[in-house]
Amino acid sequence: MNPYLEENGIEVVDTDLGEWIVQLRQEPPSHIVLPAIHIKRQEVGETFHEHIGTPEGNSDPEFLAHAARHHLRQKFISAEVGITGVNFAIAETGGFVVCTNEGNADLGASLPKIHIACMGIEKIIPRIEDLSVFTRLLARSATGQPITAYTSHFHGPRPGGQMHIIIVDNARSDIRSSPEFHRSLHCIRCGACMNTCPVYRRSGGHSYSNAVPGPIGSILAPALEPEKHYSLPYACTLCGSCTDVCPVKIDIHHQLLTWRRELAGKKIIPYSKRLAMKFTSILLRNSWMYKLAGAVGRTGLRWSPRWIVYNPLNVWGKGRDLPEPPRESFRAQFAKHKTEQRRVEGNHASTSSSSSSNGKAH
Ligand code: SF4
Repeated sequence: MNPYLEENGIEVVDTDLGEWIVQLRQEPPSHIVLPAIHIKRQEVGETFHEHIGTPEGNSDPEFLAHAARHHLRQKFISAEVGITGVNFAIAETGGFVVCTNEGNADLGASLPKIHIACMGIEKIIPRIEDLSVFTRLLARSATGQPITAYTSHFHGPRPGGQMHIIIVDNARSDIRSSPEFHRSLHCIRCGACMNTCPVYRRSGGHSYSNAVPGPIGSILAPALEPEKHYSLPYACTLCGSCTDVCPVKIDIHHQLLTWRRELAGKKIIPYSKRLAMKFTSILLRNSWMYKLAGAVGRTGLRWSPRWIVYNPLNVWGKGRDLPEPPRESFRAQFAKHKTEQRRVEGNHASTSSSSSSNGKAH
């Protein structure tokens, strides 16, 4: 929403501390609960020095938090409109709840005269008595807290003000009507699947190029723009850790596997990749070809000049270093190890039989 509002001449200030830091740095957030988790405090100090004039080199977290609070307070006071999200909307009462740990949603909803709340259609829960289950699930799975510091309930505009609720669909109805993927709408955006995902933990949120990264983002993004995000369901080891931790029991890794089948059927995966997969499938079904490819790969990587992998045409090599290739295949190493083990066991058996027969003679 921010780029659209800015294009139309409206100043937008994110007021969640992490969101504000990434906004100042003109970066996208890298996590849905901890948007600036990829940034060191020293870098935050530099950003604040550059944008709000804090002393150079000061990266004390308490000092930086006070500086941000002081700066943002002025923005809250002068803002004409406050925009919040919605964590849960209750069908029974018509109210909604916003959970934060910083109180920024409360200031945004109370100080400006107009409060606009944006919610996806999946945020609606049936009854007020269901709410406590969800608020506890959210906080416990997101940050390990029993409950978020602020759990604010809204039932109408402040006196003399206005409240508008925007209900966003944005492909959610399509997901809801899909027998395979409708369970992904149960997501309460706690971020636990990201925290446990081995791929997210190594690659970070920016590598997903989507507002919601990680395992759940890899399910939602292809539903929205399959041509742009077709590769995300493949960036998964199918270890199932996300499914284990998900508090609302979404079968995340099964859905990622289903996405692979769907996307392969849609034929939007580039021809080069489909061809590579066909070739790999032939290779993996023929043991002699597999052995030959391994031998060629090991020898080739050992003897080729370094620039073959690390050159400007190969983006893979920009941030990575290949480990040294082994001289022998795993099978050869395993067979050697087994022969050695048998030899040692044989020696041990003959030593113990000769010592026991010596014992008999004495
Ligand atoms: S899919 Fe589950 S674990 Fe991941 S953010 Fe949603 S609720 Fe949390």
